[in-house]
Amino acid sequence: MIPYARQSISSGDISAVLDVLQGDWLTQGPSVPAFEMAVAKKCSVNFSIAVNSATSALHLACLSLEVGPGDVVWTTPNTFVASANCALYCGADIDFVDIDPLTFCMSNDELRRKLVFTKRSGLKLPKVVIPVHFGGQSCNMSEIYALSLEFDFKVIEDASHAIGGHYQNEAVGSCKYSDITIFSFHPAKIITSCEGGMALTNNEKYAKKMSLLRSHGITRETSEMTHESEGEWFYQQILLGFNYRMTDIHAALGTSQLKRIDDFVMRRNELAIRYDFALKDEHIQLQHVPKDVLSARHLYVVRIPEFKHHQVFSFLRSSGIGVNLHYIPVHLHPWYQAKGFSVGQFPVSEKYYKEAISLPLYFDLKDVEQDFIISKLKEALL
Ligand SMILES: *Cc1c(COP(=O)(O)O)cnc(C)c1O
Repeated sequence: MIPYARQSISSGDISAVLDVLQGDWLTQGPSVPAFEMAVAKKCSVNFSIAVNSATSALHLACLSLEVGPGDVVWTTPNTFVASANCALYCGADIDFVDIDPLTFCMSNDELRRKLVFTKRSGLKLPKVVIPVHFGGQSCNMSEIYALSLEFDFKVIEDASHAIGGHYQNEAVGSCKYSDITIFSFHPAKIITSCEGGMALTNNEKYAKKMSLLRSHGITRETSEMTHESEGEWFYQQILLGFNYRMTDIHAALGTSQLKRIDDFVMRRNELAIRYDFALKDEHIQLQHVPKDVLSARHLYVVRIPEFKHHQVFSFLRSSGIGVNLHYIPVHLHPWYQAKGFSVGQFPVSEKYYKEAISLPLYFDLKDVEQDFIISKLKEALL
């Protein structure tokens, strides 16, 4: 089976991991800050906090922005559940903004419409909006930033798909138009640390809070303690935190992978262009990538007319092609339905779900394998 996504592990990655295993620290050693600094440099951002998953990073990001009971957070239905769950971990409510039918990202027109309507109706405006850079392409962040000033909300970019991508000639992760940006290093994503994630910000206060919460809310800095240190062993828990730490083994793999990120993104774009070209005469819809965006190309999605969708999907799977579907709209999951969301509430995402297929796309995918996928897809569409 050709998978829809796959990590690319080099001999350099393997020796970086072995070095840590043979060294002094398996966790809380120098590899984690080294990885954090390398990512921060790559993205031109001031602070970066490595954690054990993007899910943890989203949780810490919400907490550092003081999301809590009584608050509302908005995200898109066309995402992995973690983009919405983070608000609920904090006791806040979640709501969704439907997608743009061409980019498959949150629609900024719909966001504006919903903000205006919510304000006019005297309902609660969102404290935080979490746009998701679907498939690796940045949302139109300058517009979202302008809305955040007008309607007074904070912005967390869920860039789980988008490390290595650019928006208006700046690296995704620079936080130019957001408070915090999140990356995922799951093996299906652009670079991997096995499991892992990172939160990036230019705000020192948020960075401080996220790094405290990552490790139990414990401080060893005298300036943060309620009274003078009682000795060299001393620490104090000043917040209720978690163990969301990344290990040195994971960080070493991440740092090694980061060295190849430009090659990863270039090859993914090359493969995407080959798909675009081969499929241009088919009656299927491809993701529109705006001119000011360099997508990291995590996913290559095609939209097939609904009446053929199941049949095409099954035909490709039975041909040994591990196609997938991103995403089941979050509000359609039973847990969300039980919270009161209903079918028909976000029709653009729901229609998209009935048509979308993610074709295999990853660094080591060979041209001949891609040609096989293309020919099978064309056969299925006949
Ligand atoms: C993968 C993913 C996450 C969660 O990442 P983990 O590192 O697996 O926790 C969150 N949001 C989106 C959009 C994702 O694709």
